[in-house]
Amino acid sequence: MLFVLCGPGGVGKGTVSSRLVERVENLDLSRSWTTRDRRDGESPDSYVFVSREAFEERVADGGFLEYAEFLGNLYGTPVPGDQYLTSDRNLLLEIEVQGAAQVKERFPESSIILLLPPSMSELERRLIGRGDSSEHVKRRLDVADLEIRTARSLGATEFVNSSIDVTVTDIARFIESNSR
Ligand code: 5GP
Repeated sequence: MLFVLCGPGGVGKGTVSSRLVERVENLDLSRSWTTRDRRDGESPDSYVFVSREAFEERVADGGFLEYAEFLGNLYGTPVPGDQYLTSDRNLLLEIEVQGAAQVKERFPESSIILLLPPSMSELERRLIGRGDSSEHVKRRLDVADLEIRTARSLGATEFVNSSIDVTVTDIARFIESNSR
């Protein structure tokens, strides 16, 4: 079973997803490929960092479940093992909404989880705090609204990330009660 966590950049998807896989039995985190550069201080394990050429080769080989371009970089989810598609293991994808739409189309039974900021000004504060350039922050805020609307159109279940502990508890419960 596939669970897709989406929501605007800076909302806290990374923290929530790593806490969820620690906490929910039978839930693994998918590791994406990306063509973007690694940020200062970012773990080398957070993505498989590749060149655009290597990414495009994998696309041509049919090696991605979904992929999308986001703010000039490519991001993709490697095709998961059969255990996530046919048996009782659960996989969490932490991706943006164009990818979520592709997953939902291929696997209509998958669950989309939309993580929302308490407010847009709080989101702006978080993006600035994590060191993105001001031009980058502005672009991310511009796409945030569209991302939220698209996720809603996919029938996402919504959670407001106002308190990390409460949010993780609520989403963990949701995953446990919706997994096979
Ligand atoms: P960031 O550059 O901040 O790590 O990620 C930018 C956006 O790409 C985030 O919304 C993140 O969830 C999304 N993303 C990460 N991995 C994937 C992926 O494999 N596929 C898609 N479609 N989006 C991804």
